[in-house]
Amino acid sequence: MEKISHFIDGKAYSLPDSRIGAIFNPAIGEQIAEVELASKEIVKQATENASKAFLKWSRTTPISRSRILSKYKDLIIKNMNELAEIVSKQHGKTIADSKGSIQRGIEVVEYASGITSALKGEHSTSVGTNVDSYTLRQPLGVCAGITPFNFPAMVPMWMFPVAIACGNTFVLKPSEKDPSCAIKLAELAIESGIPPGVLNVVNGDKQAVDALLEDKNVQAISFVGSTPIAEYVYRTGTKNNKRVQALGGAKNHMVIMPDADVDKTTDAIIGSAFGSAGERCMAISVAVCVGDKTKEKVKSKLLDKTEKLNVGPYTDEKSDFGPLNNKSHYEKVLEYIDTGEKEGAKLLADGRNFKLQGYENGYFVGPTIFENVKPNMKIYKEEIFGPVLSMMTTNTYEEALNLVNEHELGNGAAVFTKSGNIAKHFTENAKIGMIGVNVPIPVPVAYHSFGGWKRSLFGDHSMHGPDGVRFYTKLKTATVTWVEDNAGPEFTIPVLS
Ligand code: NAD
Repeated sequence: MEKISHFIDGKAYSLPDSRIGAIFNPAIGEQIAEVELASKEIVKQATENASKAFLKWSRTTPISRSRILSKYKDLIIKNMNELAEIVSKQHGKTIADSKGSIQRGIEVVEYASGITSALKGEHSTSVGTNVDSYTLRQPLGVCAGITPFNFPAMVPMWMFPVAIACGNTFVLKPSEKDPSCAIKLAELAIESGIPPGVLNVVNGDKQAVDALLEDKNVQAISFVGSTPIAEYVYRTGTKNNKRVQALGGAKNHMVIMPDADVDKTTDAIIGSAFGSAGERCMAISVAVCVGDKTKEKVKSKLLDKTEKLNVGPYTDEKSDFGPLNNKSHYEKVLEYIDTGEKEGAKLLADGRNFKLQGYENGYFVGPTIFENVKPNMKIYKEEIFGPVLSMMTTNTYEEALNLVNEHELGNGAAVFTKSGNIAKHFTENAKIGMIGVNVPIPVPVAYHSFGGWKRSLFGDHSMHGPDGVRFYTKLKTATVTWVEDNAGPEFTIPVLS
């Protein structure tokens, strides 16, 4: 059976007596590989190597780092098919979904390969007589990334390309459920000319995360995952004096106004609620229809389109979405559907008994739609992270906006309307990090930053784009004068009294 180890100092790294985790093919529910789970010692080995590599890498010029990253981007493009196969095999999503997510990662590498302009400081001339002032953005040192199972290529690529372009070195701890993609990305990094030790991968679970949170070499931690773990990582990391950005879970609403185009809106719901089996932190999981008439129109088109969806393995090109990633998550999603029924929500489409010939042990859940969902229900309050859509109805736009604002999670939200006034009001007043106007999955492009509000993000920085550069650099301000020995100190520096 294939065994996945770690990647430290430019090469595979393995210890014979390590703890082992199992990797499954979610379409058939069978183990296909095993992964070594790092101990504290292995994490230390990785961070010490990264710390050594930092001495040289941080002194390379930003332009030379940019050039290497540009080669790295080309290599990822060249290896797109292989990477997509790795992602789909261990995650379960369709090849088209895997390629789409890798493409979003490539765009971050592209952004990082133009880092020189983002690292430019500010300069003020003559802040005093013969005195200038300027700012520098300097790298932090060793940065760590801890990532979830749902985007094994894209989420790591939100982090390390920007971190290393800024002159840091990196230790990535990917999800133990689908770790192979991270190893392939690290191998390609070496092939592109990124020096050994700059990008390391340690595989593991809580033990590895805790070791990173305590490790003295680690200066900053980027985390993406569920809200309880994001909060834990943020609190523990900051207590240990590390800079932390920790992105958590989501419950993304789509507000549908009476004037919305029903055909386009229902297409958007289908793609955003069920695509990738709902295992996206930007999936729409709540459709809020303003007015009963809106609800009736949306409901009937949505049910027609839902019936036509193909659920199946990634190896079948006709599949619109695949299985859930792992057994415990599959069981949790089924339990949420049971709970929704018990809470009194009406099931319009029930994906619980979905069966596919030849894939009877796969973790498939069909598209599921609840109607009459209420704010006090568990299925509304909590993130389900599966192909399960809750439909709600309000009498007014204000009530719909209140729902969005009162939910404790604030990753993304969308409004579907033809009204510029409503769109502007929603954009300005929704307490949400990423807004879509007639766009169901408003993931910011790489040169903007990705991050939610409320309990969807702990810390002050979003990922990639300008916030990514701020997170991975320290600001320094220099005040400078040059005085000829014989000229005398004829200058003044403003002094705060
Ligand atoms: P998770 O929180 O279970 O795991 C994330 C990472 O934390 C993994 O690397 C895992 O090994 C580690 N981890 C798990 N339990 C831990 C513990 N007790 N202590 C320390 N570390 C631990 O998340 P997941 O199930 O892999 O991913 C799904 C979640 O990620 C969903 O909630 C989803 O919304 C969220 N997510 C959020 C975003 C975002 O941008 N906000 C993006 C993608 C996924």
